[in-house]
Amino acid sequence: MNRFGERFMARWDPVRMELATRDMVSAACATEVYEGRGSPNGGVYLSWKHLPNDIIDNFPATSRAISAGWQWEGFDMTPLVERIKQGYAIEVAPAAHFSLGGVRVDAQAGTGVAGLFACGEVTGAMHGANRLSGNAGAQVLVQGRIAGQAAAADAGIRRARDRIADNYGFALAQTEAPFRRSSGIAPFELKESLSQLAEKSLGPVRTAAALQEGLTSLADLKDNVLPQLACRTQDRMWNRDWSDALECQAAFSVIESALLGAAGREHSIGAHQRHDHKAGISGELTHSLVSLNAGVLVRHTTPVAFPFLARP
Ligand SMILES: Cc1cc2nc3c(=O)[nH]c(=O)nc-3n(C[C@H](O)[C@H](O)[C@H](O)COP(=O)(O)OP(=O)(O)OC[C@H]3O[C@@H](n4cnc5c(N)ncnc54)[C@H](O)[C@@H]3O)c2cc1C
Repeated sequence: MNRFGERFMARWDPVRMELATRDMVSAACATEVYEGRGSPNGGVYLSWKHLPNDIIDNFPATSRAISAGWQWEGFDMTPLVERIKQGYAIEVAPAAHFSLGGVRVDAQAGTGVAGLFACGEVTGAMHGANRLSGNAGAQVLVQGRIAGQAAAADAGIRRARDRIADNYGFALAQTEAPFRRSSGIAPFELKESLSQLAEKSLGPVRTAAALQEGLTSLADLKDNVLPQLACRTQDRMWNRDWSDALECQAAFSVIESALLGAAGREHSIGAHQRHDHKAGISGELTHSLVSLNAGVLVRHTTPVAFPFLARP
């Protein structure tokens, strides 16, 4: 429900209502918030009041979520479950579930970088503009096997010394940089900022203004915060600061690529929905590709090929 108590899914899918597909439910929730009908914390309300109030008690024993005595990450969720059972609505918001973009790979999971293979959620273009529920599981099994076999075959012929690339020294210096600063910004703080930036700009429904703001804020964080990351301990094992710092370094190009890809798509398609361009794609279907050109990420497109099926 929105803040007026309206079951807004009736406007999106009057038959399936809240059981509509997750991309549609996410877009609907984000639209309610964007149009000013959301909850105080930027979400909507989930109410089970129209269902029998003992339904939670009769959930299958295998369901660990939303059950009597539900514990999650050290939190006791019992009071929340009790409130739901009493008929109160709870505030909820869509969360990131799956990354649809990623590394471009060929049919043998090769990345174009000698000796580097990729499979699973880190790869792009496998699911088109939207992933069908459950297909991530199939992907990791099928593509994982192909990548594993290709990597094993490659390892059999590759000599260790081939791996020492020209930029090894640069990569090492960058990886160890957070250890060389005795004071600065804790990596978890930057991680939180990047997470909020992505949430704000790359949520279920986007606008040109929010995407541009995301690009500007990202450049600002890259120039002013990233060079100040510092680990609070020098441990090389189980060092959460160091792993957060490395994740942050990598996240910059991932988030910028996603922002460039989304900004270039002035239409709504699949999981990419735009408030300012609600019409679907017209003309040729394309993949968005982002590559590094003289130190700058550049977006370009390539036509989607349909080798087996007719174009929808
Ligand atoms: C809440 C939720 C529910 C889902 N439900 C379903 C479902 O029902 N059906 C379905 O098909 N899919 C589902 N998915 C999607 C599916 O789970 C994922 O797409 C899939 O698990 C991705 O597998 P992966 O091996 O590609 O990546 P991951 O499982 O993300 O594995 C990547 C691994 O790499 C490690 N790693 C990262 N960086 C480094 C580094 N620098 N060095 C070493 N290791 C590193 C990570 O710790 C992680 O273990 C769900 C996803 C979520 C979030």
